[in-house]
Amino acid sequence: MNETVSFEDVLILAGCDIMAKSGNIKCPFCQKMSFKIYPDQRAKCHNKSCNWYGDSAQFYSDYKEISRLEAIRELSSKLDLKKSIIQTKEQTYNEAKKSLSEDYKFLSWCRIYFAFYGDKVVNQKVYADKCGLSKSEFSRIINGIMGSATTWRKVLNILRQEINIDRLKRDIKKGSQYFIDDIPPEYIKKYRIKNKKK
Ligand SMILES: [Zn+2]
Repeated sequence: MNETVSFEDVLILAGCDIMAKSGNIKCPFCQKMSFKIYPDQRAKCHNKSCNWYGDSAQFYSDYKEISRLEAIRELSSKLDLKKSIIQTKEQTYNEAKKSLSEDYKFLSWCRIYFAFYGDKVVNQKVYADKCGLSKSEFSRIINGIMGSATTWRKVLNILRQEINIDRLKRDIKKGSQYFIDDIPPEYIKKYRIKNKKK
């Protein structure tokens, strides 16, 4: 985007909270106070499990789940900018690469998330439904296979809002303590090694 577009204006337009606390604002994706806007009008979420990175057009496109071109069109009309000005600066190859690598990092946590909690607690089908995908389409994205980039972005945005990686990290740290309360007593009875009766 052009330097005349302030990231904050775009956030306000999207209805986001821009109240800053020690230089950070609430991330529109993971809701943590870890979203920082840099002077080059790119922003990064420093919450390790979210790590969203991009410019304001990228933000608007991700947040509204529309294509980058649609985002630019909408921003141009709403912020009263000349389309020709903002279209001159598109995402560079390296920016796209960096952004995508953050997506992959996040997806690797998602895989751990589904594996750790198991289907009884977090059913992938529920998340697939939320994304409007079949379970197999959803699973392909979770495993890092990109079909349409628009669907990819949409799914990543939904997951960043739905999946609490911080909770996962806390639960992993608890180790066996996390599981102990949920073990059915009949399993323990079955599992217990007893001396053979004489
Ligand atoms: Zn975030």
